[in-house]
Amino acid sequence: LTDQTEELIFGVIGFPINHSLSPILHRELLRHIRLKASYLRLLVEPEELGNSIEGMRSLNYRGLNVTAPHKEGCIQYLDELAEGAEFLGAVNTISNEDGLLRGFNTDVAGFRTALRANGILAFEEHAVVFGAGGAAAAVCHALILDGVNSIRIYNRNVDRARALQSKYSKFIESAELETTISATSLDSSNLEKSISNSNLIIQATPVGTGSFEDVLGLPFDAIGREHVVIDLVYNPTKTRLLRESEMRGARIMNGLDMLIYQGIKALEIWIGSEISSVPVKEIKTILEDSINDESLAISNGR
Ligand code: NAP
Repeated sequence: LTDQTEELIFGVIGFPINHSLSPILHRELLRHIRLKASYLRLLVEPEELGNSIEGMRSLNYRGLNVTAPHKEGCIQYLDELAEGAEFLGAVNTISNEDGLLRGFNTDVAGFRTALRANGILAFEEHAVVFGAGGAAAAVCHALILDGVNSIRIYNRNVDRARALQSKYSKFIESAELETTISATSLDSSNLEKSISNSNLIIQATPVGTGSFEDVLGLPFDAIGREHVVIDLVYNPTKTRLLRESEMRGARIMNGLDMLIYQGIKALEIWIGSEISSVPVKEIKTILEDSINDESLAISNGR
């Protein structure tokens, strides 16, 4: 890529897409690696998904990030899937190499790197995960690979939690790992006890962001100094769960680190080499400022 003559084009597809932080994140990453490229925010309605992905091929876009609600739906339009994306059944990164479209999922690697970068060890810990969608699946996958002792999945729709449990029980067995995994309804009375018996809590639903009310109804008093509490939500940068947890002495982390590291991984896939010395702290501050500017604009009625 060093002797590139034409400007490369990247982008992010989603519906809606106006709040995506990926354009800012990738602007900073592209600046860091001094690559001449554009990164576009692309609103793609579900019925236009196939045409849009075909357009990526014909317009020679080098790479796309994929966000809600297209992470599963885009798969049918791709030529190949990386192993991790195939197992998860979700794609958040598409590469285009001379017209060959390949799907990847960088959320697992992003979450694992975010843990490592923050000195959070999942090894032999007991985790509680809220949610059973794509993000929760990536979190479970990452925790299992990191050697967590147990995972308790809590979800509103318990059947979805059971499906995730069953998928990962098979994965654990086939990889001859030791993690135990269970699935429970969010309104179960044993939630408080599970939180007390755990040291790692991961919130992987959209609750706490934007227009979502705080409806999980978690027993905050079961959280204390022994806990690390991670919320994958990053807008606001401190959700009610993180505020309540911090007040009770827990260590907290929002979803920005995962977002940044999954983005670095995506760019590494597109350019075909590792990126070193990324100024993660500076980029995080830029993203936080943009989130706060946006909240200010909303509260001012703009
Ligand atoms: P998803 O596949 O649509 O799953 C949504 C999950 O949230 C489901 O488990 C759903 O429960 C639960 N949920 C939704 N509304 C709820 C409510 N009102 N009360 C209780 N549970 C509710 O979404 P996803 O892709 O997993 O994403 C989840 C969140 O993670 C999003 O906010 C996304 O932005 C964030 N995320 C962050 C990163 C990052 O890099 N930081 C990466 C990926 C995702 P049911 O099954 O009962 O419907």
